[in-house]
Amino acid sequence: MGRMVYGSSDARATALAQLKEQEGGDPFRILIGTILSQRTRDENTTKAVANLFARYSSAKELAGADEGEVKELIRPAGFYNVKAKSIITVSRQILEEFNGRVPDKLDDLLKLHSVGRKTANCVLVYGYGIPAIPVDTHVHRISNRLGLVETRRPEETEEELAKKVPRRYWLELNDVFVRFGQTTCKPLGPRCEVCTLRGVCKYYREVVSPKRGKLDKPKLGGVSRANIRGG
Ligand code: SF4
Repeated sequence: MGRMVYGSSDARATALAQLKEQEGGDPFRILIGTILSQRTRDENTTKAVANLFARYSSAKELAGADEGEVKELIRPAGFYNVKAKSIITVSRQILEEFNGRVPDKLDDLLKLHSVGRKTANCVLVYGYGIPAIPVDTHVHRISNRLGLVETRRPEETEEELAKKVPRRYWLELNDVFVRFGQTTCKPLGPRCEVCTLRGVCKYYREVVSPKRGKLDKPKLGGVSRANIRGG
C-alpha cells in the first residue's frame, strides 16, 4: 500500500503530515490541528491552522484569546463555534494542569477537553513520534474492506490492528491509510481497477468481483437484441 500511495502522482500530503513537516511536529500545534480537522476537509484544516497560528502561536496565548476572534480565524474549518471553545479550553487546561506542556501519555491526553482516542493518538504519532494507531474514518473503512479487521467502531479497529500490525509500522500506518483512502480506496467508488491490493481484499472478493461477474456474464438461453439486429 505504501508503495502505491507514495509512488502515485496524486500523493497529496495529509493535513497532519503537512503540519508535522511545517511545524517540526510541535505537539501543541498537532493537537490543535487535529481538533480543527474534525469533520472537515484537509485543505480547510490547513487554512484554519495557518490563520490561527499566525495570530496565536502558543497555549499561553490561546488560553487568553478572544473567542470571537478565534471563531473568525478558524471559520474555514467549519463548526467554528464549538471548535473555538474547545481549543481555548484545551489551551487553558494545558497551562493549568500540565505546566504548559502537551502531555505525551495517552491517559493524560484523554483528560483534555474534546480529546478522544483518535486525537490523542495523532498527538503521540505526529507530535511525539511515539508509536500509536490513530483510527480515523479512512483507517476504519480500509481495514474493514481489506478484511484486516471486522469491526463496527473505530475503537475496536484500533484494538484489533494493535494486535495484528507489528509495532514498527504504527508510526506510518495512519498517514499511509489516509493517503490511500483519499486517492484510491475512496469512501464512495473505490478505484479497485487500479488497486494492487485486489488479490488480498475481502471487499473486492465479496462485493466488487461478484457484481462484475454478473455484468460480464453472457446471457444464456435466449437470443439477444444485438443478435437479432446483427442477423
Ligand atoms: S481492491 Fe478496492 S476496496 Fe479493496 S483496498 Fe483496493 S480500492 Fe479498496
